[in-house]
Amino acid sequence: TRRPFIAGNWKMNLDHLQGIALVQKLAWTLKDASFDPKAVEVAVFPPFTDLRSVQTLVDAERFGLAFGAQDLSPHDAGAYTGDVSGAFLKALSCTYVLIGHSERRQGHGETDEVVHAKVQAAVRHGLVPVICVGETEEELEQHGTSAVPVAQTKAALAGLPAGTPVVVAYEPVWAIGTGKVATPETAQEVCGAIRAAVAETLGPDDAAATRILYGGSVKSGNIAGFLRKGDVDGALVGGASLDPTEFAAIARFQD
Ligand code: 13P
Repeated sequence: TRRPFIAGNWKMNLDHLQGIALVQKLAWTLKDASFDPKAVEVAVFPPFTDLRSVQTLVDAERFGLAFGAQDLSPHDAGAYTGDVSGAFLKALSCTYVLIGHSERRQGHGETDEVVHAKVQAAVRHGLVPVICVGETEEELEQHGTSAVPVAQTKAALAGLPAGTPVVVAYEPVWAIGTGKVATPETAQEVCGAIRAAVAETLGPDDAAATRILYGGSVKSGNIAGFLRKGDVDGALVGGASLDPTEFAAIARFQD
């Protein structure tokens, strides 16, 4: 039994003051709705500059929210101007770190090799990588539905020992920020193929335990359809995670 996971990727939005305001409103909204954080895990992924503020708030108020960063360096320390070490994220009690988001693969030239090195760095520092995979519209036409996300998953997980905790997020590039959402049937097909790829790399026990998310234009009005599918264990939410009322409604998909 995998605990559903609702993750909010703020991308480059909300400074630390706006981040504090959002987390407070989110936590109060969930509390008012008697939301049970043991039933569904909710996490936010703010910009680096917000993380200390979010940590302080979440710790002080015992909100039961998890948080993580949107990227990390493949290196641990040293002459890497502008990069952020996984060690620093761990010191801020981050649980998770996003790796290989399509906006980093496309905008920052992150290859499967870079993604793999970042996954290794996350694991070295005791962070759970949330590995983002997904195909562009052209790749979809060329290679079919699951080929690219499966290849990206295998490349990211290659050589990791069984028992390594990871999360995989299937985000079709054509569905990100477009309002063009994948059908629950497509999400199920690809998430199922990703689970098989996890079985091949980490083994069957890990495949059964690993949470696989769908991302791309998820809203409170379409989340339930995805979570009804057996291999879709949650969502990675972009735009809709910037509105605390809407994001809380997504987290309460079971109501
Ligand atoms: P949207 O929810 O805005 O489509 O973004 C999805 C995403 O990229 C989350 O990482």
